[in-house]
Amino acid sequence: MNPTFDDLGLIPELLQTVADLGYATPTPIQAEAIPALLAGHDVMGQAQTGTGKTAAFTLPLIQRLDTDGLQMLVLAPTRELAIQTSQAVYRYGTQLGLRVLPVYGGQSYTRQTRRLEKGVNVVVGTPGRTLDLIRQRALDLSAVRFVALDEADEMLKMGFIEDVEAILKATDAGTRQTALFTATLPNEIQRLARAYMRDPQVISIESEAVTVDNVFQRYYVVRDNDKVAALCRLLEVEELHNTLIFTRTKAGAARLAETLYGRGYPADAIHGDRPQIERERILRLFRAGTLKLLVATDVVARGVDIPDVSHVINFDIPQLGIEYVHRIGRTGRAGRSGDAITLISPRQRGHLRRIEDYTRQPITKAKLPTRDDVLQRRDDHFRTTLIDQIEARESEAGYAILDELEAMGYLPNQIAAAAIKLLRAEETDRPLEDIRDAQERKPGKNGRDKWSRNGDRNGNSHGKNGKHGKNGKKRSRRDRTGQEAGMVRLYMDLGRSNGVRPGDIVYGVASQADIPGDSIGAITIRDHETYLDVRDEHVDAVLSAMQRGRIRGQVTTLIRAEGVFE
Ligand code: AMP
Repeated sequence: MNPTFDDLGLIPELLQTVADLGYATPTPIQAEAIPALLAGHDVMGQAQTGTGKTAAFTLPLIQRLDTDGLQMLVLAPTRELAIQTSQAVYRYGTQLGLRVLPVYGGQSYTRQTRRLEKGVNVVVGTPGRTLDLIRQRALDLSAVRFVALDEADEMLKMGFIEDVEAILKATDAGTRQTALFTATLPNEIQRLARAYMRDPQVISIESEAVTVDNVFQRYYVVRDNDKVAALCRLLEVEELHNTLIFTRTKAGAARLAETLYGRGYPADAIHGDRPQIERERILRLFRAGTLKLLVATDVVARGVDIPDVSHVINFDIPQLGIEYVHRIGRTGRAGRSGDAITLISPRQRGHLRRIEDYTRQPITKAKLPTRDDVLQRRDDHFRTTLIDQIEARESEAGYAILDELEAMGYLPNQIAAAAIKLLRAEETDRPLEDIRDAQERKPGKNGRDKWSRNGDRNGNSHGKNGKHGKNGKKRSRRDRTGQEAGMVRLYMDLGRSNGVRPGDIVYGVASQADIPGDSIGAITIRDHETYLDVRDEHVDAVLSAMQRGRIRGQVTTLIRAEGVFE
């Protein structure tokens, strides 16, 4: 039986956080590392990104923090990862009110020093900058009891091992509990573990290497509203035999099966809310080939024996790399070839890239079949079926009616055309909807207003006054950077010194996250960093698209400013 989060020894506050984040069950690395770290052991985990390793070391270690002040240090190889991890630590620690500070090169020392002086509980840093701050006596690690080395093999590759050792030496070896995560185990990492870890518990998560060279993995970018229409087009033109379609939730699975059924694509769903007996019946039909389209959730699919399928379709992209591998492993078995198709919205591009990082395999971008492709395909299919029927010479029963109709004066080709029309009526039950180009919104000459700063302000303030005016809860601007009610402040580690201007932010963020330009509010650009306000409902889209986004051609990560940068 797989453990649940409740079995791992986490305190209620953290269980609540995990539930709020929607994590249903611990990942394998979490199931092993959390109890070990809670028990005070050093842990060396072999796991890549996408396995849930950040929560695997963060949850238990923050549970063990017991006094105020700086007690925990996380080292990460890159600025990007340090920022991302600091955000994750902050998120996992919300209920505990943790103060987290990321430190990395390129950001001003003064800022970091000032924040350190004010007091933080966790520092997440790149080795270079962390060591600099120690040497400048701005960072004092003497009270640090928990150290996590994230992606240790990457730090080695980047030549940071000496820095890492110097940093470890600045902590108290007697009280330090160390967690080390690495995707590979080169000698140098083993040596580091021997020298700096106390009898580490080694956890190796079998790399679920994607042994699916014979699976063609591709993705389509479509807007959320067009996903069903896009799926239907694919169902029409693909050479489908038996197809497994994944959704994220039980409700989503039920809804999608119903929608497909209603559109003339017989589908059924298995999910946790259906009685076992029904699930078995559906699976029998699927195995027998009577049912060709099966919609499922990850949880259910894991527990049942589903035969090899011709297509796996990720209607919803999985959250974890490991889930992606499990899903697509359902096709391409026993040397046969298979197809794995993933639908993503424009804002999920970053998420898809992280899955590619996890599998270390490219997923090819593909273009949806057009309406004409579908019609052409329907014609071809009908023609072939008709020819097969003629060739089979089993149509004698039709001659009697044909003779009668001819006797009434109708010509054979008139009769045949009418019969074809009747036969093809069922095709019109399958509506062919228009699909908007997911990339189409680009600021152009006429679109300027939409993207301009003034336009934003006006749009925002009208909406807000109207809404809050009613119950008299009109909130004023919150502080100097101007975060307004209904907006969330985000942070990015590029600023004036990187040539960033307001227009770059509005254009870059809006086009990559596929949100209207006027959902971006106040922008404050400093030398090395930028704050921007984004309307509540678009925050998730922006964070997801900008996990590895581009502004003026430079890669950056946008994160919530709250807690970490405020
Ligand atoms: P990581 O391997 O730490 O980079 O995590 C990969 C992604 O998985 C992150 O987006 C996490 O929010 C998410 N995640 C971590 N643990 C779980 C879990 N138990 N269930 C679902 N998602 C998770």
